[in-house]
Amino acid sequence: MPLADFKTDYADLCARLCRIRGSDRLGHAYLFVGDDTQFLEQFAKAWIQVCACHSPGDDGDACGACKICRQIQGDTYPELYTLRPMSKSRQILVEEMRDFEHKLLLTGTPGKLKAGLVLEADRLNTQAQNSFLKTLEEPPKGSMLVLATTQPRGLLPTIRSRCQTVSLLQNKKTYDFAMDCGLFPLLSRLRQGAGAAVALGVAHELRDLLAALRAQAEHMTADSDVNGQEMAEQDPAFGKRMNALRQAQTEAEYRRLRQELLDAVEVWFMQCCLVAEGVAHEHLPHPEFFDAANGRPETLDKPSWESLDGHARAASELMTYLERNVDERLAVETFCLTVCQKSSN
Ligand SMILES: [Zn+2]
Repeated sequence: MPLADFKTDYADLCARLCRIRGSDRLGHAYLFVGDDTQFLEQFAKAWIQVCACHSPGDDGDACGACKICRQIQGDTYPELYTLRPMSKSRQILVEEMRDFEHKLLLTGTPGKLKAGLVLEADRLNTQAQNSFLKTLEEPPKGSMLVLATTQPRGLLPTIRSRCQTVSLLQNKKTYDFAMDCGLFPLLSRLRQGAGAAVALGVAHELRDLLAALRAQAEHMTADSDVNGQEMAEQDPAFGKRMNALRQAQTEAEYRRLRQELLDAVEVWFMQCCLVAEGVAHEHLPHPEFFDAANGRPETLDKPSWESLDGHARAASELMTYLERNVDERLAVETFCLTVCQKSSN
């Protein structure tokens, strides 16, 4: 599927990508983030086609007719190497990564783009990701790497920071929950340069939101256990086990709710990247976020796309830290301070 087929829904993004191609400011590594694996694969291939075509149009887009274009569209381009989870565990193992890297290192045809495409990149296990880092830093000559994922937080921060992120979120998910709890007005205060006082104020309120989620989780698991009360009174050992079980259920429920909330945080910042790319309000996957925040993003200062991408990464790292049981207060404050810090120059 050529990039032109995506122009209706992603006009600004496609134009930006074609401009990058036309200006020869091509990066070595791209990370496509979205919410649909198949769609990401098609888009990633379209982008590879744009970069590989030898007779691009004036707008930088692929011609769609040359041999390379036809090969890529027919999945027969010999210089395109694809890696995706194949094993039962749905993990991409380090051996598979090494094979993939080996193929990329083999001399290709001079003047032809070699492309390495990693689909469902979050399925790379830690070992495979670590092995991939060096290649990402210094891809083989004449090659480009493209990663695609619906779960960017499954990637090491070091992987993400070596790629240029392109967000392709579609409107597949509803965030009623995040809307109801007042998350977005809070997030709209987190802006680059806002300073530490604002950051810590927002961090405090975010932790209040999390505390409310914990109370909600406790309430939900307590309700489900009315029948056991009597038995617990008669049998203390049973009561103890039941208590432990309930605590585990509460924790699991809390984490589920927290995950939903943090997902929305990440999407918020990705969407800020889309705005910085010139995507119009009505074409955003979740314009309701900005409506709820009582402020369209164009009223924000114009932070650079790079810094916004950094914010989206910071949001994703926040999730990773919390999953690893890093102190919640510290993680939330660090995140808010990262976003609100004054720019370095
Ligand atoms: Zn072509």
